[in-house]
Amino acid sequence: ATRSGGDPRQAETHCPYCALQCGMVLRETGDRVEVLPRQFPTNRGGLCQKGWTAAELLDHPDRLTTPLVRDPATGELRPATWAAALDRIAAGIRAVQTGHGRDAVAVFGGGGLTNEKAYALGKFARVALRTRHIDYNGRWCMSSAAAAGIRAFGVDRGLPFPLADLGRAETLLLVGANPAETMPPLMRHLADQRERGGRLIVVDPRVTATARQADLHLQPLPGTDLAVANALLHIALTEGLIDKDYVAARTTGFDEVRRTVAGYWPAEVERLSGVPVADLEATVRALGTARSAIILTARGAEQHAKGVDTVSAFVNLALALGLPGRPGSGYGCLTGQGNGQGGREHGQKADQLPGYRKIDDPAAREHVAGVWGVDPDDLPGPGVPAYQLLDSLGTPGGPRAMLVFGSNPVVSAPRAAHIESRLRGLDLLVVADFLLSETAALADVVLPVAQWAEEDGTMTNLEGRVLRRHALREPPPGVRTDLAVLTELAARLDAPASFPADPAEVFTELRRASAGGVADYAGVSWERIDADEGVFWPCPDPDGPDTPRLFADSFATPDGRARFQPVTHRPAAEPVCADYPLHFTTGRVLAQYQSGTQTRRVAALRRAAPNGFVELHPDLADRLGVAEGDEVRVASRRGELRAPARVTPTIRPDTVFAPFHWGGAARANSVTSDATDPVSGMPEFKICAVRVEKA
Ligand code: SF4
Repeated sequence: ATRSGGDPRQAETHCPYCALQCGMVLRETGDRVEVLPRQFPTNRGGLCQKGWTAAELLDHPDRLTTPLVRDPATGELRPATWAAALDRIAAGIRAVQTGHGRDAVAVFGGGGLTNEKAYALGKFARVALRTRHIDYNGRWCMSSAAAAGIRAFGVDRGLPFPLADLGRAETLLLVGANPAETMPPLMRHLADQRERGGRLIVVDPRVTATARQADLHLQPLPGTDLAVANALLHIALTEGLIDKDYVAARTTGFDEVRRTVAGYWPAEVERLSGVPVADLEATVRALGTARSAIILTARGAEQHAKGVDTVSAFVNLALALGLPGRPGSGYGCLTGQGNGQGGREHGQKADQLPGYRKIDDPAAREHVAGVWGVDPDDLPGPGVPAYQLLDSLGTPGGPRAMLVFGSNPVVSAPRAAHIESRLRGLDLLVVADFLLSETAALADVVLPVAQWAEEDGTMTNLEGRVLRRHALREPPPGVRTDLAVLTELAARLDAPASFPADPAEVFTELRRASAGGVADYAGVSWERIDADEGVFWPCPDPDGPDTPRLFADSFATPDGRARFQPVTHRPAAEPVCADYPLHFTTGRVLAQYQSGTQTRRVAALRRAAPNGFVELHPDLADRLGVAEGDEVRVASRRGELRAPARVTPTIRPDTVFAPFHWGGAARANSVTSDATDPVSGMPEFKICAVRVEKA
């Protein structure tokens, strides 16, 4: 399975971390595995330090190589055989479901799992467990953009065009995105854009590494992006920058949006957001007069209780300017996790079946049940979004057992201390991981599973490009793949369908299950991916073309037109007050990834970013009597974090920031809000009210 040019000690693959899925070569040299960047359209020969050091975890001393089962007598995790661990899980599932019904067992997946695993996990939940309770941490990544994309375009593909199009955009507007830190090789495309004379405009409450490179930086108060977008459209209307022909021919619903944004007077939005009217005007003129323009959103705009509406406001702007579907132009979302895109297409999401089908659509159920060889009436209905699922664990009527694959919600969930207590209250918690994450440390059974370089599979990157992961070597003794775990558990549970452990076999089945769906992979084969540097979905025909660019002629809506969505600003779920007078926002740093389970164990990354911190503006630090490096306490109504202060003028004086990669005392999510978006279920990670004091 190794694409190696014949050398068994070498494999062409992709980085295990973010959605850029940079191309790399792994090479076994002596007793270590070397990472070499390779030319691939997303990274063009570049890697960030996370990618360079990714292979260090393959032989890391913290690596789990034997199952662990909690000893009821001592309460400690003890090594066990695979048979004993799997028997314990199967017996626990049976006991819980016999006593409390099928929905008493839940599954929690991850946006880093391959397409094959995401598909198999969704099938396992619906067919082997017959529970409606499955969701995944991708819900906390781009679900707001996904929902807004479906609302407007009838389809959600992070970027509906290849990444290289960024380099050709005359104006590029980045909203709540900081690729200079989160996806550094992407900056090569932005450098192209700059070399061609393009303009970069960044919307971000912080002066990030990306914002420093911008021609114009709008620095709004967190939680006011929607109002900013509506004001931009207001100005576009008053300055005659609307593409009337495009709006008439390719969209519906503009009149209502026009009426809505009429009330967003720029001067009022300046008072609300802090963004000067002159900057709003300059932004609209740069977008509206450019021959090509792209608007991108990311977590800063999306991780709000109004995240879907915020994205819709920027989509409205893009549609009014006639951008989506025009060459070198459009709207897109920068997906975060490695398989954030593919992870949501194949059935890990509570409301979806493979092929991006709705689970409550009778035709979709019929098709997928046919592929699985089960009765459609036996498939459960939709579950609930990730936070609601975790919050219901152990409550009356809620799940009492959960299987976690590729996720660490003890660090990554909002209101994390509360979620941690929910997990502790379960009758059975099973975690499959290759390291003892904070969540695995709470489990009754921990299963040691393979890493990315030890198994084949596919990922779908932020462009909707399906990629091949090639295994370099077998998993070490004692370690099994996630797929093999599902095979074994399905057999023990007498599942009425097959669960192959071979990823090639799973992918063949996935292609059939996705056929005819929005995310149609029927024409994608592993061989074709290797030959073409990936295949863009939809690709329904093995002999037909794939689809690098969507929307050139029509949108995926019943009438082929994009739909405007009138949206209005509303305040954050938790306003500041006398007791909690500051805004708190979270984000990432270059050297760490997600909950840090992996990257905190890599020596070079630990040196680069050894611990959590709290960013404070110098004026605020003065007021609080805090100096650089002092430990500060950040408290919200839900909990607190303690970490050293980083005093910097790059943040607003009314806002504090902490990265979310650390557990323990520095856990940023101890503080975050559990308010969620009513449409997407996205938690409001990006704003809540806190007070800060010197610890
Ligand atoms: Fe590329 Fe992302 Fe990996 Fe860095 S973490 S090397 S940007 S895929």
